[in-house]
Amino acid sequence: MSRRRPVVAGNWKMHKTVSEAISFARDLAQEVSAEVEAEVIVSPPFTALADVCRVLADGPVSVAAQNVHWGRDGAFTGEISVRMLAELGVSHVIVGHSERRGLFGETDHTVAKKVAAAREGGLIPIICVGETEQEREAGRTQEVLSVQLRGSTEGLVVGDGADFMIAYEPVWAIGTGRTATPGIAQNTVRFVRERLAEQHGSVISEDVRVLYGGSVKPGNMGDLMAQPDIDGGLVGGASLDVGSFMAIIDY
Ligand code: PEP
Repeated sequence: MSRRRPVVAGNWKMHKTVSEAISFARDLAQEVSAEVEAEVIVSPPFTALADVCRVLADGPVSVAAQNVHWGRDGAFTGEISVRMLAELGVSHVIVGHSERRGLFGETDHTVAKKVAAAREGGLIPIICVGETEQEREAGRTQEVLSVQLRGSTEGLVVGDGADFMIAYEPVWAIGTGRTATPGIAQNTVRFVRERLAEQHGSVISEDVRVLYGGSVKPGNMGDLMAQPDIDGGLVGGASLDVGSFMAIIDY
């Protein structure tokens, strides 16, 4: 059995008001016991982070932000810093999600700056990478992932594998209901690990947890988690309901 602890991280995206988030967090806290095998993380929108952190403060569920700015403070209208998040009790941050890359102009360079700032401020970044359907069909998956991994973790000073996580999320599988087959997910996550080994050393690469994301559901989580290199799931749609999220956590 892998020595890496499984992770199930829910990405709520732009869903749930504060009252909906509090209600979800209370229900989840009832369901997730301290003995749960997987590390469980939820990522509410910024507006609900403080309340969700309060509700989950004494339990095993961690809280992530969905984005962060790299600056300490300053004239960055609309942005949120690492210090602001850490003060709330946020422990993780999703960085470089394909929606941020595709819709909001995030680049590997800005991702790397966010990753470095998160590490410096004590937050664990969950760094997202993944190819589009066009790139996969053109046979460019490995090239795209190599560039994203190198650029997004450039300058990252790594202590051990617990310092950061990678989420491999094929863009064509996000929110589409089209999950990568366990075989494709395993092969690609293995490739991600090999690239990390080249860049950061084999010890890091074996210790770092690599998640799969893209239409993860209760019905496919078990098969994905049976793959030797997949350590968990980054879950969008199916994380919005406590029942389906729990079924994934208990895969
Ligand atoms: C995601 O938002 O990272 C994601 C994988 O979404 P979904 O599970 O809905 O495909």
